[in-house]
Amino acid sequence: MPKGSESESRKLLGRLRDTLAEEGAGQERLDRITTIIADSMGTDVCSIYLFRDAETLELCATEGLNKEAVHQTRMRVGEGLVGRVARSRNPVNAPDAPSARGFRFMPETGEEIFSSFLGLPIQRLGETLGVLVVQSKESRLYTDDEVYALEVVAMVLAEMTELGAFQDEGAAMGARHTQQALFRGGVAQEGAAEGHVYLHEPRVVVTNPIADDPHVERKRLEDAMSTLRGTVDEMLGAMGKKADKEQVKVLEAYRMFANSRSWVRRMQENIGLGLSAEAAVEKEQSATRARMESVPDAYLRERLHDLDDLSNRLLRLLTGQGKDTGAEMPDNPILVAKNIGPGELLDYGKKLKGIVLEEGSVGSHAAIVARAWAIPLVINAKRILTEALNGDHILVDGDQGVVHLRPEDSVAAAFRDKIAMQTQAQERYASIREKPATSLDGQTITLNMNAGLMADLPSLVGSGAEGVGLFRTELQFLTRARVPRRSELASIYGSVMDAAKGKPVVFRTLDIGSDKVLPYMKPTEEPNPAMGWRAIRVGLDKKGVMRMQLQALIRAANGRPLAIMFPFVAQFDEFRDARQHLLDELEREKKMGHVMPSDVKIGAMLETPSLAFAPQQFFEMADFISIGGNDLKQFFFAADRENERVRKRYDTLNVSFLSFLGQIVARCNDTNTPVSFCGEDAGRPIEAMCFSAIGMRSLSMRPASIGPVKSLLRRTDLSEAKAVIDEASASGAQSVRGAVMDWLTGRS
Ligand code: PEP
Ligand code: MG
Repeated sequence: MPKGSESESRKLLGRLRDTLAEEGAGQERLDRITTIIADSMGTDVCSIYLFRDAETLELCATEGLNKEAVHQTRMRVGEGLVGRVARSRNPVNAPDAPSARGFRFMPETGEEIFSSFLGLPIQRLGETLGVLVVQSKESRLYTDDEVYALEVVAMVLAEMTELGAFQDEGAAMGARHTQQALFRGGVAQEGAAEGHVYLHEPRVVVTNPIADDPHVERKRLEDAMSTLRGTVDEMLGAMGKKADKEQVKVLEAYRMFANSRSWVRRMQENIGLGLSAEAAVEKEQSATRARMESVPDAYLRERLHDLDDLSNRLLRLLTGQGKDTGAEMPDNPILVAKNIGPGELLDYGKKLKGIVLEEGSVGSHAAIVARAWAIPLVINAKRILTEALNGDHILVDGDQGVVHLRPEDSVAAAFRDKIAMQTQAQERYASIREKPATSLDGQTITLNMNAGLMADLPSLVGSGAEGVGLFRTELQFLTRARVPRRSELASIYGSVMDAAKGKPVVFRTLDIGSDKVLPYMKPTEEPNPAMGWRAIRVGLDKKGVMRMQLQALIRAANGRPLAIMFPFVAQFDEFRDARQHLLDELEREKKMGHVMPSDVKIGAMLETPSLAFAPQQFFEMADFISIGGNDLKQFFFAADRENERVRKRYDTLNVSFLSFLGQIVARCNDTNTPVSFCGEDAGRPIEAMCFSAIGMRSLSMRPASIGPVKSLLRRTDLSEAKAVIDEASASGAQSVRGAVMDWLTGRS
């Protein structure tokens, strides 16, 4: 195969394009293409494998192998050399295939007579669509030029696949973007919504991957590059002196890439081999994306991200496909985006029914806006952008963090039932809104709500919560470009208390670190941020911010009762020190003539197992204790709360965890210290019922959970529930859930 020269490559691409223009079914086209590639590259075999489902590749066309094997030979990702190419998304070049790592012999193909093997991923913008393989009898390593030429061919095949050129019968050759797909992400705002996809930035479609005249294409690329450089310079120029350092850093990285000779050279080379300017950009972008997923270094990944963004801009310049494609917003729009800023989200307004992001985070500004509007938001829905098309039918389950794209009718019907049941249930709960959460055996549980924004406060009335058991104060810090001023905070906290109209509010001091990183805080590289410098540890080390926040809280109370708790206390001394700071600030504020709160309660969050074993004096000193079950559970089981893989292994109703909670309740009862549970699990009715049964008298949860939890508690005899839990615990069961569920279902 002395091929690989520019003119040979252009000739080959020209023949591929002619095939695309010819009439014929997808299968015929694919067959012709394998013949052309084998012929042009001088190989004995050319085969194309496409995905029939997310895990399985299917031989869809071949020149050189047994034709009977077409649509019969299948392998899973990672299986055999073809599967290895798909998994690694890198070429496999093996002079003696049978002795190569991972080789799997497939007798039906008759491939035993071929020694050398070269396989490349057929990929488009980081998505692998299949594998292209050439094989020869002679044992030899394919040259770099040959690999490169074949990469260009694979890229063109990816574009053709995306454009539907190979559409035919069978799962592997079915139309793309038509099958149902399920995405699992993270919960950022609960709720359920049904609607149609509205892409924040519709994907760029390259309709002309192959071009005849490299001079014209090079000129197009040069022009687009110079426009791009101009835009980046303009953006940098417009930043001014007070610009955010991070933003400047990003733009400087953009400028570096926009002037990168090697990047441009690679794209020019792609053009030389017969690609159009946009296809040349896309080929490099695919490579960048593949690297992005494999580099372990966070800094390098960020830079690759910058390069990816820049490639997007370049593609939009070349194709003229701007953000605004004129696509009408469909009915019940569900916004699908990689990520989105709060400003852009505000522009869309409340007409959105749901939001799905490929990236995003719970603490992101967009999440905060979505929460304020109560629009279901799912984050980290990986790869949804490669699948979703404008107008696609979509279901967003914000409670589970699940998204169904193009769902089957049965899935959509079940989802609608769920929405209807939720609406009905909410109506039912409204009738018990003013009633207490008193169990059948006369035990009353206080149900509070968790909040973090002014916009959460109206739920206090709607949900029937008795107060705010946890006000997370970090959101006001996360949404600003600098530390908020004391007066600003005092006014916000004051408004929260006003809105609570005398109902108690427990303010938690700043809990930053871990996944909540302040934009203006110098990032500290920590190997394990969840167990790192966070919450009260930061507060005690950087006293200025904590003191300022405490002063703001005292001023906000302005003669009203004040309840403050410190997060993530791991040992008695931390609580004692933080409490002393609050007492000092009270003294100082008093001296300055500010009105003192009518009552001050100082509590600790119990979120680390160590605190449960603190000296008796700790329990005596704390005015109240609030169990932060989200953190407590992750440290109890040593299972990261953000890692779905391990998080779900351990049930909250696990006997060890429940008995641990029981011991905490007992220690609090010994000193008459009120104890409450404010982690997410408090909002799950079965869990809430079990916590109450083991003696917890106060729970704090998201507002929408108050109704369901109250409804179950009012129908339950808690002493009977306790007996069921005790019996199940004594039986050696790992979790009491089964026994509790049997008991609940059996009694109704
Ligand atoms: C918790 O850990 O349970 C808690 C309430 O705090 P956060 O979820 O904010 O860490
Ligand atoms: Mg916590």
